[in-house]
Amino acid sequence: MRLTSENSSGSGAGLRGARQRDNPFCMDYLPVFLQLQARPVVVVGGGRVAARKVELLRRTGARVTVVAPELRDELRGLAATGELQHIQAPFSPSHVNGAVAVVAATGLTEVNAAVSAAAQAQHIPVNVVDDPAASTFIFPAIVDRSPILIAISSGGQAPVLSRRIREQMEALLPARLGALARFMGERRKAVKRTLRTAARRSFWERIVGGIVGARVFAGDEAAAGKDFERELRTSHLTRSAATGGRGLGECYLIGAGPGDPDLLTLRALQLLQQADVILYDRLVPAPVLERARRDAERVFVGKQPGNHTSQERINELLVHYARLGLRVARLKGGDPFIFGRGGEEIEVLAAHGIPYIVVPGITAALGAAAAANIPLTHRKLAQSVTFVTGHVLDDEALDWRSLAGARQTVVFYMGVGHLPQIVAKLRAAGAAADHPAAVVERATLPEQRTLRGTLETIAGVAQAANVAPPALLIVGDVTALATADSLIGSELEAMA
Ligand code: SAH
Repeated sequence: MRLTSENSSGSGAGLRGARQRDNPFCMDYLPVFLQLQARPVVVVGGGRVAARKVELLRRTGARVTVVAPELRDELRGLAATGELQHIQAPFSPSHVNGAVAVVAATGLTEVNAAVSAAAQAQHIPVNVVDDPAASTFIFPAIVDRSPILIAISSGGQAPVLSRRIREQMEALLPARLGALARFMGERRKAVKRTLRTAARRSFWERIVGGIVGARVFAGDEAAAGKDFERELRTSHLTRSAATGGRGLGECYLIGAGPGDPDLLTLRALQLLQQADVILYDRLVPAPVLERARRDAERVFVGKQPGNHTSQERINELLVHYARLGLRVARLKGGDPFIFGRGGEEIEVLAAHGIPYIVVPGITAALGAAAAANIPLTHRKLAQSVTFVTGHVLDDEALDWRSLAGARQTVVFYMGVGHLPQIVAKLRAAGAAADHPAAVVERATLPEQRTLRGTLETIAGVAQAANVAPPALLIVGDVTALATADSLIGSELEAMA
């Protein structure tokens, strides 16, 4: 528990710096993780900074004693309930006796120096807040996914940089990383019993980088457990040559969002990084694909004139690649379950016993709404929002009367080819001619255009502007709030 330190010999940070320059193999600090459960730690100081350190130390289960003439409220509360010990007195060297670590957070240089000296005299690790030269240990920036812990330090040189690195890691690491570590820990013995040493590593790699890990990250440990059992049962079997020694593949049905790559979810990004092959749609732009693993095979399965991949063919390809033992990402524009035929794809996967996971995406309506400043619901203007496909024009089941009503927003997907017909249906069902409407083309992409009008004008406006798919028609009072591309929008509105 005791740490000897260069500081205790009085050398200070200067010598450390010099040594560091001379010897490239020298570290300024040794990163270690202290076990503080039920061990005595002394914090000197009763203010805001001390309170922060106390909170951190208490999370490790340390027995914290605070030395200070006065405590701020939250510390006083903890003292009152016995969750920390309070020594109400000015600091004296004997206060550090028996401590396994000491923190000086008084904000007073002299008192902090006295705490540092007293601790170092007894070779007790000491941290003086914001004063690395007076400290024998420093607090790193922490990413806590217990039991996974990441500590980041700049050796006190650039705390802002450490914090920034921490934020970046926070953003990129799955929230349930700790859950996966525990999940694996609980199964280590079983794996040891079942697999030879040589096979274990690649087994665990498959768990971490495959559907089992993905399921734990998605919070479905029950399903993860089942897949894990299956992997373990089958992993010792001789695998067929066709799968190149790999097991049964798996599929990630991923929503790519409306086009802007920054609107991918973190989970989409994580799974795109581990997929071996990516089947993508016409709506998935290149910048999104670029976020995928460099060496992943990319297969275009978009439906476009001259290169039409039928849904049946897509289903076949999904099964084909999974059967090769590959991790297949099925990347679809927007959300896979909003007019994306995701439902049919998971049916096929389930029928073939291929494990899959679905990752939601930001659907085009939400992307367009944000990008064009159209609040889809509004306390005064719209109490509900409906997503409709413009393909169902002849579908008698569609209740046009209810879509034509006021105080709601209706978003038509795949409707730009039939704008006049859609508008006519709404008008026939009772919608007013001056009911506001907007068309948002290529929402969230650099070429995005927003055109505003009314049910009477919008079809003409869109036609004059040569609007082409992908675009959405949004109908409702809220579209009057849209930030339209003023030139195009108003000019054409005037023309119409
Ligand atoms: N699953 C997708 C929708 C697929 S249907 C989603 O959730 O967004 C295809 C239709 O989506 C297009 O015809 C168009 O109406 C709409 N769409 C997709 N991306 C769009 C974008 N960037 N801007 C406007 N509309 C878009």
